[in-house]
Amino acid sequence: MAAPEIKYTQLFINNEYVNSVSGKTFPTINATNGQKICDVQEGDKADVDKAVVAAREAMKVGSTWRRMDASQRGRLMNKFADLVERDLEYLARLETLDNGKPLNSSRAGDVPVVSKTMRYFAGWADKVCGKTIPVDGDNFCYTRREPVGVCGAIIPWNFPLGMFAWKVAPALCCGNAIILKPAEQTPLTAIYLGSLFKEAGFPPGVVNIIPGYGPTAGAAIAEHMDIDKVAFTGSTEVGKLIQQASGKSNLKRVTLELGGKSPLIVLADSDIDVAVNWAHQALFYNMGQVCTAGSRTFVQEEMYDEFVKKATDIAKKRVVGNPFDASTESGPQVDKEQFDKILEMIESGKKEGAKLECGGGRKGDQGYFIQPTVFSNVTDDMRIAREEIFGPVQQIIKFKDVEEVVERANRTLYGLAAAVFTNDINKAIMVSNRLQAGTVWVNQYHNVDVASPFGGYKMSGSGRELGEEGLHEYSEIKTVMIKIPEKTC
Ligand code: ADP
Ligand code: MG
Repeated sequence: MAAPEIKYTQLFINNEYVNSVSGKTFPTINATNGQKICDVQEGDKADVDKAVVAAREAMKVGSTWRRMDASQRGRLMNKFADLVERDLEYLARLETLDNGKPLNSSRAGDVPVVSKTMRYFAGWADKVCGKTIPVDGDNFCYTRREPVGVCGAIIPWNFPLGMFAWKVAPALCCGNAIILKPAEQTPLTAIYLGSLFKEAGFPPGVVNIIPGYGPTAGAAIAEHMDIDKVAFTGSTEVGKLIQQASGKSNLKRVTLELGGKSPLIVLADSDIDVAVNWAHQALFYNMGQVCTAGSRTFVQEEMYDEFVKKATDIAKKRVVGNPFDASTESGPQVDKEQFDKILEMIESGKKEGAKLECGGGRKGDQGYFIQPTVFSNVTDDMRIAREEIFGPVQQIIKFKDVEEVVERANRTLYGLAAAVFTNDINKAIMVSNRLQAGTVWVNQYHNVDVASPFGGYKMSGSGRELGEEGLHEYSEIKTVMIKIPEKTC
C-alpha cells in the first residue's frame, strides 16, 4: 500500500505550474505520524494578483472562453470528469496521504464526488436560461444570466476534493473564471487537479490554484478589488472575516458555508438499531470532521439507556488506524491544532459532569489519532453541547416530548443540518418543518446530493451550493428592456 508519488507542488496560474513570487514554501504534514510529506509553494497577495490578471484576460470580451459555446463548456467539464475517473486511484491515495482519511472513503466518496459534481453542472451549462417577461407598455423584456466574472474560492481541509468541485463546477458551468485557495493542511489534490484542467482543454486563466495560508493568500482573495465573488467554506469565525473583507473592499458577492452543531432527534417510536447506526455515522464519519456532523444526539427518555449502551458498543468497535489499511474506519485528525482542540473539549465534557462512556483520549503515541468517544448525561449548557468539536466525540442528550426537543434543538446559533428518527409520518413532517436548518434528514443522515441545494440557516452561512439554487449563485441576472416602436412596417 505505497504512498503515491507527489507530482506537483507549485501554484497553478494561467495553465502553468509556477513558483510563488516570494519564493517561500510551506510544509504539508502526514497526520498519521506528524512528519512532513513535502514542501509546497506558498502563495500570497502578489500571486493572487497574478492569478487575477490571468483570470481577467480569460474573461475578456472576445476571448476563447467568453466566445465558447455553452454546450462546449459542458463538454470540457465532462472531459475533466473523465480524467478524474481515469486518475481515481492516484487521487484517492494522494488525498489519504495528505488528509489522513481512510483510503476506502477517498475512493468511494471524495474522488467520485468530483466527477459527479462536474457532470451534474456540465449538464446545466447549456440550460442556464433567462426569461421573457410581460412588462407594461410596448416593450420586449427579457433576462439573461451572465457570468459573475472572476470568482474566488476558499476551501477547508475536511473534504478537499469535494469542496473544490462544489465551487469550481458551478463557476465553470456559468462561464466564470476562478481562483481557488485550498486549505494549507491539504493542498496536494487541488494542485494536481490543475493539470487535469489543462489536459481537458480549458483555456489559460480559467482555473487558477493558489496554495497558501488563510490570513495571507485567503485574505488577499477576500479583499481583492478585482474579484467579483467569493465562495467560502470553513469556520464561522473566518466566515465573518470574509464577509467583512467584502464589505471593506468591493462588495463582492459572498456565499458562506460555515459551522454547525446539528441536532439528531431520536423519537421513542423509531427503530433503535437503525437510529443508533445512523447516529454513529452522523458523528464519527470522517473522524467527526464534517460541518453537518450530528453532534447533539437527542434521545427520548423511554429509549435513552438502551440507546446509550448500543451507541457505546459500536463506538468501541470502530477501527481506528492506518488510513491505507482496508479495515480502517477512522484515520487521524487532520493536524495538531485540531487534535489539541478536540482533546481540550473532551476534558471540558468530563469537568462539566458529562458521563464518559468510552474513549476520552489519544490513541497510540504518534500522529493525531483520537479514541472514538461517547458522552451520556449531557446537558444543553455544557460546552460539548454548544460548541463545534469537529472530532470523534458523541454527545447523547435526553428529552421528554417532541415540542420540547424541537425548541431545544433550535436553541443554537447554527442551522446547517438536522435529523429526526421516527416511524410516525406526521411527526416526521411536523418536526422537519419546525427545525431551523438548511437540510433535514428523516431516518438517515449525511445524504447530500449534488442535485439538491445545501447550505445553512442562521450562523451556518448564507447562500446555497449545489442544485439549481447553487448554480444561480454563479450568475448575474441582467434585465434587457427593448422599446417596441408604435409604427410597424
Ligand atoms: P479551520 O479552523 O477548521 O481550519 P478555517 O475557517 O480556519 O477552518 O479555514 C478554512 C479556510 O479558510 C482555509 O483555506 C483557511 O486557510 C482559510 N482562512 C483562514 N483564515 C482566513 C482569513 N483570515 N481570510 C481568508 N481565508 C482564511
Ligand atoms: Mg482556523
